[in-house]
Amino acid sequence: MNNVPPLDLSRQYAQIGEEIAAAVQKILASGAYIGGPAVKTFEQEFASYIGVSDCVGCNSGTDALILALRALKIGPGDEVITTPFTFFASAETISAVGATPVFVDIDAGTFNMDVDRLEAAITEKTKAIMPVHIFGQPIDMTRLTEIATRHNLAVIEDCAQSVGAQWQSQKVGSIGHIGCFSFYPTKNLGACGDGGAATTNDPALAATMRMLKEHGQSSRYFYEEIGCNSRLDALQAVILSIKLRYLDSWNAQRREKAAVYGEFLSRVPGVAVPKELPLAKGVWNQYTIRLTGPESAPNPSGNFRDSVRAKLQECGIGSMVYYPLPLHLQPVYNSLGYVAGQLPAAEQVCREVLSLPMFPELSRDQQERAIYGLKDCLAPGDRIR
Ligand SMILES: *Cc1c(COP(=O)(O)O)cnc(C)c1O
Repeated sequence: MNNVPPLDLSRQYAQIGEEIAAAVQKILASGAYIGGPAVKTFEQEFASYIGVSDCVGCNSGTDALILALRALKIGPGDEVITTPFTFFASAETISAVGATPVFVDIDAGTFNMDVDRLEAAITEKTKAIMPVHIFGQPIDMTRLTEIATRHNLAVIEDCAQSVGAQWQSQKVGSIGHIGCFSFYPTKNLGACGDGGAATTNDPALAATMRMLKEHGQSSRYFYEEIGCNSRLDALQAVILSIKLRYLDSWNAQRREKAAVYGEFLSRVPGVAVPKELPLAKGVWNQYTIRLTGPESAPNPSGNFRDSVRAKLQECGIGSMVYYPLPLHLQPVYNSLGYVAGQLPAAEQVCREVLSLPMFPELSRDQQERAIYGLKDCLAPGDRIR
């Protein structure tokens, strides 16, 4: 195999395909496609894995965030503090419930919201903080929780990229008021389609989210709120139950790959490897480096990172850019009034980041080819290994 893809889901299916196919067959034959025991079982297993009392399965990570915001009664006139360096859904959901996202600059080492800048963004309108454990790396939840508690703010953890990650002894998604997970296929625990879940230790919040995801129905055909239809279906649930049993070993494999990348790439000039906080145990949904050489400065003749990415592609090595433009500068948020230069760390990182091939089945050989390919692109002809 000559090519190194950024991600290869077929390798995982080759490993557990028979088990999945058998379970899927059983659901197909049962006739219970929505709800039923498969969904309940997965919700219980996932709650116990994360270490919470309740898990509410739903249709996507995006819906989990919306259910969480709505259960916490966040809406028009409210502000929610989050990071500008994340997948759009983190901020989109805040806007979707009528509230306003407030962006706090990031720490370029971990790519997470800079907790040192958090408190200055709190106003009398702030209702919640939405930390995103980006790329699978937990943010400092001790300091974040301390600030949230002091200001009486809710905490919604966006755990879409960080299922299984730990801050000290706790899994992310069990520390804030609500944790929101995505089972999109490229996440560390991926369904064969869309899926999501919200976790909480507050049974009242769980009950509200359960009601909202079923049209706001309190008992059959009696409605208390305008809700939506956001169910996790039985096929996805049974697939997720199987995959959950492998998740820790897959995450351990991702950690091994991250250690190999770190060992080789930390010595390459012009490359900054991602930082993991001492109390964090990340799960590396992405392994994202920054190309920090002088070539990376804002450059009218084109972006240095993009040229490296194109060269890698020519050698058959896939890579991705998560994310090319921070959310505060997205056209849709023009009306919020942010200007270029206002959140400099996030803006700089968007010019520098490159996510390298990362999945549990990535072979050592593939990984070395990615590493040497990158070194070659950065210093052509320099063969010192
Ligand atoms: C994937 C993702 C989401 C959305 O999850 P979906 O299941 O795709 O709706 C939200 N936030 C982050 C950080 C994500 O990576």
